[in-house]
Amino acid sequence: MRDFSADHRWLSINTATVRKQRGIDLPLPDILEACALRGIRAISPWRDQVHAAGLATISKLVKTHGFALSGYCRGGMFPAADAAGLKAARDDNRRALDEACELNAACLVLVVGGLPGALAGKAAHKDIALARSQVTDGIAELLEYARAQAMPLAIEPLHPMYAADRACINTLEQALDVCDRLDPVSTASTAGPRALGVAVDIYHTWWDPKLQAQIARAGQDARLLAFHVCDWLTPTTDLLNDRGMMGDGVIDIPRIRGWMEDAGFAGYSEVEIFSTHHWWQRDCAEVLDTCIARHRSAV
Ligand code: ZN
Repeated sequence: MRDFSADHRWLSINTATVRKQRGIDLPLPDILEACALRGIRAISPWRDQVHAAGLATISKLVKTHGFALSGYCRGGMFPAADAAGLKAARDDNRRALDEACELNAACLVLVVGGLPGALAGKAAHKDIALARSQVTDGIAELLEYARAQAMPLAIEPLHPMYAADRACINTLEQALDVCDRLDPVSTASTAGPRALGVAVDIYHTWWDPKLQAQIARAGQDARLLAFHVCDWLTPTTDLLNDRGMMGDGVIDIPRIRGWMEDAGFAGYSEVEIFSTHHWWQRDCAEVLDTCIARHRSAV
């Protein structure tokens, strides 16, 4: 396993981690500046942050600072209640993929969606099997477009508590089953990452008794495209925006990173923390400095 204790060359900052400073939105160019100042080599920005600053501006800054993108957040949200909704999702995913290419991201991360309308508080139906089949169809369609541009797609399984509103792919096993169906191993190219793989976020997957075995399975087929870290706090006071800093919760992060690396993963460890009442109330500088320290001591 790589030694992270002496430096932070394998640290990536998911820019949601510092999207707010003292409760106020922090523009993405400021975040990139603060990361560059600290020798952070990789980032993973969110689309809304990129759009607010302008894709061309961010693309230029990424090049100026020489950042790698450990991923681009995010595509997905495939299910819809009608044909117009499905088409809108398809078009939006293609735009997300184009942006990921412009920014030279390692992958486009997919949060696949759940029951249509649920995120807005009113689900159009209760048929999660239908939502899952629309997810599979949506990924299949996007995969063709992604292959043509050589941009890998990373399915991110989300904790089951988000099955209704954010993602009805809830375990690594389920995500890999979709990968195997849409991108059989026999179609592997001889070089480079696979066209379809997974983003392993420990916040969503740490509890899974099959996690180690499924990470090994993913590694065997070269599907480990991204690794997201934070921590699970006890108690967790908000299902979405109360993620902990690495070392402050109950996840055995080094053990899971060891499984990832045993399975061949050699990429960035991406810190992704949504924290309305704690880290988003601090100064960006303090949060980034803490991320660096915990990357060394707790990841
Ligand atoms: Zn994540």
